[in-house]
Amino acid sequence: DWESRVLKSARARSGAGGQVVLVTGAAGFVGTHVTAALRRRGDGVVGIDNFNDYYDRSLKRSRELLLQRAGVFVVEGDINDAKLLKKLFGLVRFSHVMHLAAQAGVRYAMKNPGSYVNANIAGFVNLLEVCKSANPQPAIIWASSSSVYGLNTKIPFSEKDRTDQPSSLYAATKKAGEEIAHTYNHIYGLSITGLRFFTVYGPWGRPDMAYFFFTKDILKRKTIKIFEGPNHSTVARDFTYIDDIVKGCLAALDTAKKSTGSGGKKKGAAQLRVFNLGNTSPVPVSKLVSILEKLLKVKAKKVVLPMPANGDVLFTHANVSLAQRELGYNPTTDLQTGLKKFVWWYLDYYSPLGKKSAV
Ligand code: NAD
Repeated sequence: DWESRVLKSARARSGAGGQVVLVTGAAGFVGTHVTAALRRRGDGVVGIDNFNDYYDRSLKRSRELLLQRAGVFVVEGDINDAKLLKKLFGLVRFSHVMHLAAQAGVRYAMKNPGSYVNANIAGFVNLLEVCKSANPQPAIIWASSSSVYGLNTKIPFSEKDRTDQPSSLYAATKKAGEEIAHTYNHIYGLSITGLRFFTVYGPWGRPDMAYFFFTKDILKRKTIKIFEGPNHSTVARDFTYIDDIVKGCLAALDTAKKSTGSGGKKKGAAQLRVFNLGNTSPVPVSKLVSILEKLLKVKAKKVVLPMPANGDVLFTHANVSLAQRELGYNPTTDLQTGLKKFVWWYLDYYSPLGKKSAV
């Protein structure tokens, strides 16, 4: 039954660190990889995900199956459901929460503003409310985003740079999350670490991201759109490979200090941190396409268009020296190498035979 599955999943392997982690958004792209990595090293880990239909649900179900085979139970539920969260915290003494559930994507926000407020603001607050009253209070590690740098033009982006000009609602909700983290740290002694991910890619990735739908469309011989900035300027991203991100997440978890409150009251100074997790080497989108063409052995049909005003920024570029110093974070995968692994996965997963073996 439900409770025994949760308890079994939460059990750390003996001899391991004994950490017990709740991962929100566990059936998501980053969530699946982080959850699997925690499990591999022996941590107790329980997932939660609402399996929403922002993109192909069957992909989320396949990731869930992968986790199931590794011995992890993903509870189907919403982070806005306080009753469910309290029930989970009543069953398990979580030492950490890895909060990766969110409404992601920049463009989708233009037509669906409510889902960003609901998942990224209301959902985060609901989760923090439950964490603040839990005994023990877990340390929280959560995904912010490089998008908080918004219209900042100083590159590379470092954590001290301004984040007061979000250019999309997505970015604004992530920025709001950082402010909310400050409040819960200050009042309730919760230890909270925000990780600003920079364009994460890799196997089991998100179908709404460019590298993913470019691959699909190139294989289908469909014309792809490449956007350029004003005066034909280059649009570039600091593409960061999933394995590097996972290492950063685990290091953030392992260096997180205990929360210092109890029963909703603060006892001492708790930790509040924010780190860039990027790759430090932005690549133009046109270069991304040429790498994919070579890997797929198909010449892409493409049009170059001016970037529409949809909240996307022109470029991102991380300075990761803070994460390097404090987390030992050191991204090692270049785009060519990482895309090769993505393409292998993609071809395997979406070939009729591959799909059978993956599900
Ligand atoms: P994803 O969409 O694959 O994963 C998010 C998961 O959360 C999904 O499985 C979704 O079903 C779940 N979810 C959404 N709302 C929920 C709710 N209310 N309750 C329970 N579950 C809910 O996205 P991802 O790429 O894995 O991103 C993980 C985190 O990293 C997100 O916070 C995202 O904003 C952040 N991030 C990602 C990137 C990137 O490039 N992938 C970059 C910057 C930040």
